[in-house]
Amino acid sequence: MTLAERSEWAITVLSTLRQRPTASKARRSKSTKPYVETESQLNILDAETSILSTVRPKVSAALKKLDARTVGNLIYLFPRRHNEVVKISALSPGEDQTIVASLWEARPTQLGRSLKGTETVFGDETGNIRIVWFNQPYLVRHFKPGRRYVLSGRVSIFRGHRTMDSPSYEELTESSALEKLVEHGHLFPIYPLTEGITQQTMRKIVREALSKAVSHAKELMPSGILQRNRLIALGKALWQAHYPDNIEAYETARRRLAFDELFILLLRVLYFRTKSNVAESSISLFPPEGALETFISSLPFELTNAQKRVLEEVTQDLISSKKPMSRLIQGDVGSGKTVIALAALVTAATSSFQSAIMAPTEILAEQHFLTVTNLLQGLTEPSVKQHLISIRLPPYSKPILIGLLLGNTPARAKRELQAMLYEGTLDIVIGTHAIIQENVSIPNLALAIVDEQHRFGVKQRAALREHGKQPHMLVMSATPIPRTLTLTLYGDLDLSTLDELPPGRQPIRTKAVGPERRSAVHDFVRREIASGKQAFFIYPLIDESDSINARATIKEHHRLSTDIFPDLQIGLLHGRMPTSEKKDVMDRFRSGELNILVSTAVIEVGIDVPNATVMLIESADRFGLAQLHQFRGRVGRGSQTSYCIMIAESPSEDAKERLLAMEKITDGFELAEVDLQLRGAGDYFGTRQSGLPNLRMARLADTNLLSLAREEANILLESDPELSNHPLILNEINEMRDTIAGEAG
Ligand code: ADP
Ligand code: MG
Repeated sequence: MTLAERSEWAITVLSTLRQRPTASKARRSKSTKPYVETESQLNILDAETSILSTVRPKVSAALKKLDARTVGNLIYLFPRRHNEVVKISALSPGEDQTIVASLWEARPTQLGRSLKGTETVFGDETGNIRIVWFNQPYLVRHFKPGRRYVLSGRVSIFRGHRTMDSPSYEELTESSALEKLVEHGHLFPIYPLTEGITQQTMRKIVREALSKAVSHAKELMPSGILQRNRLIALGKALWQAHYPDNIEAYETARRRLAFDELFILLLRVLYFRTKSNVAESSISLFPPEGALETFISSLPFELTNAQKRVLEEVTQDLISSKKPMSRLIQGDVGSGKTVIALAALVTAATSSFQSAIMAPTEILAEQHFLTVTNLLQGLTEPSVKQHLISIRLPPYSKPILIGLLLGNTPARAKRELQAMLYEGTLDIVIGTHAIIQENVSIPNLALAIVDEQHRFGVKQRAALREHGKQPHMLVMSATPIPRTLTLTLYGDLDLSTLDELPPGRQPIRTKAVGPERRSAVHDFVRREIASGKQAFFIYPLIDESDSINARATIKEHHRLSTDIFPDLQIGLLHGRMPTSEKKDVMDRFRSGELNILVSTAVIEVGIDVPNATVMLIESADRFGLAQLHQFRGRVGRGSQTSYCIMIAESPSEDAKERLLAMEKITDGFELAEVDLQLRGAGDYFGTRQSGLPNLRMARLADTNLLSLAREEANILLESDPELSNHPLILNEINEMRDTIAGEAG
């Protein structure tokens, strides 16, 4: 391959890493759904959710936020959990519970001067409960006294009596389909929600989807596999996953669906591993003696032993001409992955090759660019341009040019950078994946680094290997994937682990408190700021929360700056801001001009501001452990004592355990294991933050199932290595690529 061919190829490959799914691909985003439509068939599974009679246009838009675009997606939108019906007398405050009760009365009520509501009394054989829906006087018309209803919601105490806070309600009459579905078990599904969809709406929608579409779901598992592993039929499993007869039936259904997921996942890794014909040779990056040493000795700190070890592993790969590097660096937040990446980049540059590092967001790309300037102060040459710096690494004689190329780089600068890349005069390019899609050609590319990239699929990695000469690949991930799973997911990558934090780091003091301590916390923040420190305040984004209780970040920012800290400089960062504004706010926070940065989860990955010592997380019960840990990793990056304070209004039992785990455990990998134990089916894998494929039913604790699935995958590949006798399965495996690449960043 010529250099030009190689670069063109590399660009094609790399750009697929960032391809947004097209509409039709996105529709299949339930990656492991075990059916495949044929072309001739206009399948209801692929129809938009709006064809269902229970789905109004607004709801259809909201469903997309839950990744449910099609009817087929809906039947795979599994409940977060099931609530077993409890008696009214057994309701316990703070829990999210479900009752089945008869309505005694419902009447409109005046709750304040302008606040109207609906007041109801429900009862079962153990007692009565008064429930008020605020702001919804029209509900009166829906309720029919004498009928039975299913009510699910958070139990609380009002004036000494138990009540439920705006519970979801569904009528449960003798004749309703719902009654039949739950006649044995009285297990009610609790679905993930998003703004604009209530629990009762979701239940109705999913029931309609199930009754119309389950029979069309294609069984792609060979019958031999089903028999050998005592797996129930797909249709039955799907129904039971939503409306199980009892807990055992649910478990049987979950087992079947989890098997499908694990089987496809493993088969995919094995299939592409055997297919990938590992290149016989690669570009050997051999820097002049001393250049890398110059880089390392100019750093303002000593590398940790873990960094030294990992860097050694990386440079060995780069020097070798046997095969291109395919390496994953895993390291907890703050373990210092960036320096390793930089060392690899300068290794390529001083070997006279080009290299690129791609970050998932512009803020992060920008930050990497700044890091180079800051870390290598003694080596940088005065720069005339914002997007270009030049460093010297003697004894390498030429200056090394480093460019920052973002989607919003001004056109002229962009053209200049692109020209330099094409001519080979730009040695290192820092940017997002977007740069690679915009007709950028990097003829001399020898190393591509993907930072904080969690969803980098096995198929892309295999594709990289399919070519003769190809750039070395380095993937860096801060998602602590439980060790038990690493091999399954990254079986085709070599693994380096940064298992040591830089010295001098003090454990971040972590505390969960109730809202009554908020003003004390604010006082504390004020004191930290008075001594020159900075703070992050995180709020869950209203769009992403499933409750009206979530504090709107924008409103909070306003309140904080006018009422609470009128004398301080407070910045606001959220996902819907234009990039230039985001950048501006980040710059001002980095430079210390802003004392507090109020942010949504945007901040989550990678931000490095060592002077920030306080991470305050509001509504902390709404975040998963992996996410909380990522937030916490934003502080404690310098040598000063740092604090992570989590405020939770009235956390559920699950949330309490998460917060407790955060207080006790600082190690990300250890937390990941705890996370697994705390989470139920369809939860751990399902969360985007987990950085794992979108598995819904499989649990890591399913080690038994995992080995059965692996065995079957091996058997299948032995008898049919090309999967030519299993086109449905092959198709499924191929489809998965789009999902994983499409979800990136
Ligand atoms: P992450 O692994 O989360 O990407 P970074 O690479 O952003 O971590 O590093 C976190 C912080 O630690 C940065 O401010 C970086 O400069 C600093 N750092 C990295 N390595 C060391 C080290 N060996 N000693 C001291 N500080 C270090
Ligand atoms: Mg990082």
